[in-house]
Amino acid sequence: MRRPDKLNNVRTVYMNGESLCLQCRACGRKALVHYTALLERRDVDQMTPLNRLKFRCAECDSNDVDLLIPITEEEAQQWLKSGAGEGDGSL
Ligand SMILES: [Zn+2]
Repeated sequence: MRRPDKLNNVRTVYMNGESLCLQCRACGRKALVHYTALLERRDVDQMTPLNRLKFRCAECDSNDVDLLIPITEEEAQQWLKSGAGEGDGSL
């Protein structure tokens, strides 16, 4: 699990665990977003830097969302289960 740097893009996500971990800094809600959901966004392709993506929390509407890249899907699931958050993927 690591934070994206400026070289990481949507391609980085599917080369690793295939999902991106999101956590709201305001309320702590966690969610996973699969890379295919990222690619469905307008103006997003494989080379879009992760730092350019905007997320909004479904719980508290904050846009202060932390991104983490899991190395495997299993790591992503374990992260989701630990601590706060329901994690239905709807962040
Ligand atoms: Zn929130």
